[in-house]
Amino acid sequence: MRKFKTESKKLLDLMINSIYTNREIFLRELISNASDAVDKLYFRSLTDKSVEVGKDELEIRVAFDKDARTITVSDTGIGMTADELEKNLGTIAHSGSQEFKAENDFSETDAADIIGQFGVGFYSSFMVAKNVKVTSKAYGSDEASVWESNGIDGYTIEPATKEGHGTEIVLTLKDSTDEDDYDEYLNEWKLRGLIKQYSNYVRYPIHMLVTKSRALPKPEDAGDDYVTQYEDYTEDETINSMIPIWKRKKSEVTDEEYAEFYKSDFHDFTDPARTISVHAEGALSYDALLFVPGRAPFDLYSRDYEKGLALYSSGVLIMDKCADLLPDYYNFVRGVVDSSDLTLNISRETLQRNSQLRAIANKVEKKITNELNKMRDNDREDYELFFDNFGRSIKFGLYAGYGMKNEELGPLVMFYSTIQQKNVTLDEYIELMPEDQDAIYYAPGDSIERLRNLPIVRTVTTKGYDVLLCTEDVDEFCLQAMRTWKEKEFKNVSTSGIDVATEDEKKIAEEAGEANKELLDAMKEILQANVSDVVISPNSTVAPATLTTAGPISLEMERVLSQGPDADRIHAERVLQLNAQHKVFETLKAAQADGDKEKLKLYTDLLYNQALLTCGMPIEDPITFAEQICKLM
Ligand code: ADP
Ligand code: MG
Repeated sequence: MRKFKTESKKLLDLMINSIYTNREIFLRELISNASDAVDKLYFRSLTDKSVEVGKDELEIRVAFDKDARTITVSDTGIGMTADELEKNLGTIAHSGSQEFKAENDFSETDAADIIGQFGVGFYSSFMVAKNVKVTSKAYGSDEASVWESNGIDGYTIEPATKEGHGTEIVLTLKDSTDEDDYDEYLNEWKLRGLIKQYSNYVRYPIHMLVTKSRALPKPEDAGDDYVTQYEDYTEDETINSMIPIWKRKKSEVTDEEYAEFYKSDFHDFTDPARTISVHAEGALSYDALLFVPGRAPFDLYSRDYEKGLALYSSGVLIMDKCADLLPDYYNFVRGVVDSSDLTLNISRETLQRNSQLRAIANKVEKKITNELNKMRDNDREDYELFFDNFGRSIKFGLYAGYGMKNEELGPLVMFYSTIQQKNVTLDEYIELMPEDQDAIYYAPGDSIERLRNLPIVRTVTTKGYDVLLCTEDVDEFCLQAMRTWKEKEFKNVSTSGIDVATEDEKKIAEEAGEANKELLDAMKEILQANVSDVVISPNSTVAPATLTTAGPISLEMERVLSQGPDADRIHAERVLQLNAQHKVFETLKAAQADGDKEKLKLYTDLLYNQALLTCGMPIEDPITFAEQICKLM
């Protein structure tokens, strides 16, 4: 018995128990090694005339024996000599593949797309096996050897007999216990499923004997009551599909093929809205196939939704949903990234710090942004639908970016234009701005209909300025976080800060304010903490009174935030604006002149509540409000 080299016993333990959280990947690791071994031989045959192997001789095979409780993975690859068995399997973290890569210059060819390079994958077999036996015969050698180990103390290497070149690995599974079921792997469907899941795109055929059923021929003397008889038989089948669709050029794949792949792999029944295929070579080589779904999954905005792209290393699945490959605002994108620059044995923690992965993520993000910009410019209808589905994610991105993402995401957002009566981009809004307009006006609220009829919106649009109607909770937060677009500030039309009145109008309002100071003060007194001020509006609106706000918090923000944990602390500073040209104002003046305090209070309360209602805000005391109206009637 030879002991494992290095501090291997401890290392082996650590490895088996911590690098892999998911023990079923042992099969993926063994198949990847087999694929590497086949690749190496194929590469040799291309570069060395004396090596003669046909491509059809190259295969990987998976088999199992229920009674003996074994799983066998074999290949017709390059094989290993006794020395190589010692070197590659006796030393943990020694990767023969890494060496092979270093010894050969692959810059001109992709013939050897070696997966392994870390040197621990093989040992993952000890997560499920109590004994592992590796029989191998190197290509061109007459002698075979067998390496055997229980994964604990050490291993033995003995001479053996084996027919052709290649390697055969037999795992004797651990005994099942109440908690751990190892026998589940002794099942055709399970193994087939694992091959499909993890190794579907390995470039050599993975064969397995599968059981099928067929009808027996009807006997000649069968009577009328003959029932068809069936028999089971076994047949060799190639389990993997081999050529990954993402490695193929976009021009060689039909839209239907992409759609089929998308729907079957990502469990959607709607065709994707867009398919993006990327093939990068050079310092960083990878292939990516990305899909913008045709509809939003029902759970997209729930806590359970997990963003991410499937991550492959040379056709072998590393991770189903690698979140680091997508920014949050593109959380709806589905797809695959495959890079030969990434190692298989990479844990979630190390992935995050992986610079190649980050570089790929950046490229992927740019590709998505480009595609969306293209869609907006060339296919407005598609883009409108896309934005209905996923615009929220983009607005959240702008909000979370606090200005940092304006350049990238700003061109993608759309809001409803009051004047054009459709969704417009910010650039489209700016293009139609009158010369004297210095801000982008918007009105937040819960429906387009209601916002359109808001007195202040009417006033602003009558003056020729467009107003963006924002009906999603995130909208105002998004615009506030962006602060400006093309140097124009965003202004909520329901705040005191907006300035659409002419100098004359402002002057008139100011004078009316001074002339009626007592009235305004009296009303302010009546409303007390509800408002911070009562003023004359410089904008002659149709309504007798409107509510605006001073300060950073708008009424809409207050409404949205009142559903959250900070509800009590968040309060919009309300300003009641009166229309001095309205008849109602005369009535107020008269009540004040008569010294009728009760009447003034009634009118003031009514006006305030009415203004709240038109803004879409709840009134504090609906019962009193109703009583007050009855009193008037
Ligand atoms: P890695 O694949 O990352 O190099 P592994 O632990 O999976 O590390 O394998 C260690 C080494 O053992 C491989 O690099 C390779 O040289 C050798 N090896 C493993 N399986 C086979 C096989 N089926 N045929 C030939 N060599 C193999
Ligand atoms: Mg490996």
